[in-house]
Amino acid sequence: MKIITLPKENLTEFIGYLHAFGEIHAPTKRGDKSVVFAPVSDLSEIELNYTRTILPLKKYFFKPVDVMFNFYADKGYEAPTEEADKKYVIFGVHPCDIHGLKILDLVSNGRYVDTYYFAGRNKAAIIGLDCIPDDLCFCRSIGTDFVDAGFDLFLSDIDNSYLVRVGTSLGDDMVKAADTLFHEVNKEDREAYKRKSIERRKSFRTEIQLQDLPEIIDLEYENEVWHEVGEKCLSCGTCSMVCPTCYCYAVFDELNLDASSGQRKRRWDSCLFKDYALVAGGHNFRAERSSRVKNRFFHKQRGFVTQYGRPSCVGCGRCKAYCPAGIDIVEIVNKLRSQTRV
Ligand code: SF4
Ligand code: SF4
Repeated sequence: MKIITLPKENLTEFIGYLHAFGEIHAPTKRGDKSVVFAPVSDLSEIELNYTRTILPLKKYFFKPVDVMFNFYADKGYEAPTEEADKKYVIFGVHPCDIHGLKILDLVSNGRYVDTYYFAGRNKAAIIGLDCIPDDLCFCRSIGTDFVDAGFDLFLSDIDNSYLVRVGTSLGDDMVKAADTLFHEVNKEDREAYKRKSIERRKSFRTEIQLQDLPEIIDLEYENEVWHEVGEKCLSCGTCSMVCPTCYCYAVFDELNLDASSGQRKRRWDSCLFKDYALVAGGHNFRAERSSRVKNRFFHKQRGFVTQYGRPSCVGCGRCKAYCPAGIDIVEIVNKLRSQTRV
């Protein structure tokens, strides 16, 4: 992998070069505390020192509401042309969110390829950025605190410069477009990178133990913990909406007033919603809140591991950060583990 450095004073100019590669989106402040990915025109709008955005990157490729196709009574259906050629450069993406995208790539590229997802995904460049965790981050325990693929460029802070890893030929084109801004890596840069990496590693305070977790979850299927959490859960679905790896959706049609044309759309859905498992005839397979919380947890830490060999959680901490009931995935794991004799 090609590794170079970008002095921090050159970042403004480099952002200017990125406009040629697509519409630039980056973390920006909303109010005093919140950060969201949004379009930016220059560095002054970018929040470089953020912990997590409210919504992860899935909002670009797996949109909250997406038009699948337009339909007409007389001529059938056609794909929407809006934004068909739009390219994005998404700057400042943390390692856990890059891992989140890798999980969505995997799921979307299964037996039935999600062409709606890849229509946007294939046109987006990803520029990663290292972060400093807070108490809600547990990515290090999951192995998602570092990425070695899934980005075009990745920037790590080494004091006066960024160490830049070039992940793809598109990333290399970006560097070549602004090659006078970059330098070769020297001994001091390497030392600074090692020192900063150690500092960062030490700053992770929250851990989750994944070993044996699928077995523990199976053994504790009837544990009282699920009822306790179910009592607190409001079924609001926020945890699914903010999760970088939740991908359930519902499909619906919107008919125009002419009653002969319309749009088929999909929108984010959540297994925490009361009617998620409601079927024709009125039976609800998960009518209890406790069974819905348990289902989400089982899917992420049990079912996904069976199917893909890893949990579908990247330890970003969003579900705890934005849950109005303060439900904490790490606390649940620790409680289950403490009650299991294996
Ligand atoms: S965000 Fe919290 S309260 Fe809302 S559905 Fe998820 S676990 Fe329940
Ligand atoms: S389950 Fe929670 S911590 Fe894990 S990836 Fe989803 S939002 Fe992040």
